[in-house]
Amino acid sequence: MSTKTGTDYGIYTKAIHAGQEPDPLTLAVSPPIYQTSTFAFNNTRHGADCFRGESDGYIYTRLGNPTTRMLEDNVAALEKGVGGLATATGMAATCSVYFALFKAGDHVVGTDALYGPSRMVVERDWSRFGIGFSFVDTSDLDNVRKAMRPETRMLYIESPANPTIKLTDLAGCAAIAHENGAILVVDNTFMSPHLQNPFDFGADIIIHSMTKFLNGHGDVVAGMIVFRDKELLAEVRPAFEFLGGTMDPHQAWLVLRGIKTLGLRIDRAQENAVNIAGMLEAHPKVERVYYPGLRSHPQYELARKQQRGPGCLISFELKGGLEAGSRFLDSVRLCTLAVSLGGVETLIQLPAGMTHATIPREKRLAAGIADGLVRVSVGCEDVEDLMADLEQALEQC
Ligand SMILES: *Cc1c(COP(=O)(O)O)cnc(C)c1O
Repeated sequence: MSTKTGTDYGIYTKAIHAGQEPDPLTLAVSPPIYQTSTFAFNNTRHGADCFRGESDGYIYTRLGNPTTRMLEDNVAALEKGVGGLATATGMAATCSVYFALFKAGDHVVGTDALYGPSRMVVERDWSRFGIGFSFVDTSDLDNVRKAMRPETRMLYIESPANPTIKLTDLAGCAAIAHENGAILVVDNTFMSPHLQNPFDFGADIIIHSMTKFLNGHGDVVAGMIVFRDKELLAEVRPAFEFLGGTMDPHQAWLVLRGIKTLGLRIDRAQENAVNIAGMLEAHPKVERVYYPGLRSHPQYELARKQQRGPGCLISFELKGGLEAGSRFLDSVRLCTLAVSLGGVETLIQLPAGMTHATIPREKRLAAGIADGLVRVSVGCEDVEDLMADLEQALEQC
């Protein structure tokens, strides 16, 4: 009966069906929530087989759960991988990968503008265990090449990166990592599998904060690690089980429900974003807009090569700096002043005054985060309503 989980289906079909057959017991169409911590064995022999991995029966929810497995198979299908490990949060996914693959003396090269905690946990914590690191502007492959060392185990990148929407060449990074005996890990949160599949460009592991686009409704935190081959999956699995950042089955069910509309949500939000980016670029109070759908984006061509669309995140600089930024954010009515992204509702924030406020100003400016930089995660509202709100707020600054 395994007809709905074929690998040759399109991305909208996969989002709705991959990993999910009607429940074998009741034929329920919506996946059951297996809200259980433990699973019974038929007899001691069955139990032994499960522990040896010779039966694919379930043992205990920290190690695996049928509802969670449906989600893992679903996201793995969307990313064209061989399997996934679902985690309680995006950070649990990142930390499980680090924990599984680092050994004392290893070195990691990463995007300088990585999601803050993904970088900070290396600098603050993994450094205590003898892990070296170089965080560089990976949008220039020369920086990546120069940062690689004989002991580099991992190249960990994000494209586009936050909040400047700078892209990194995925295929270029895969080549550099593999020439140097390292693996390429890509945090694909900002694009989601609807718009970018890093395995197509040679990545080895994909990380998702499913808190963002995959769940898409701003009501769950969740993460996923996806693998290109079974060997790496087997290598990471024990650390994932020991670290304990496992997803709860109810959480898995909510994310499965969110993913069914992934493509619909992103197509709609992206169309809104294209229109809003155009309006902002023409606005007299706006200094510059960072959006890969605009020809003015320095990596417009790279975006066309590795992304199926420009995405739903826009950053722009207000001419009036931090003060104008604060006035602007205090004036929006429909857009919500909040961190996070990728939901159906439009969220807006001021990196210099919020997420990146603790970084010294010089360092922040050097990283391209100007005082008046505003980041918008465009949602699925009516574009006329969003435009009217942004325009009236721009009048105030
Ligand atoms: C939010 C985010 C994370 C962390 O995910 P959590 O679910 O908050 O733990 C990692 N990477 C990126 C790009 C993110 O936006």
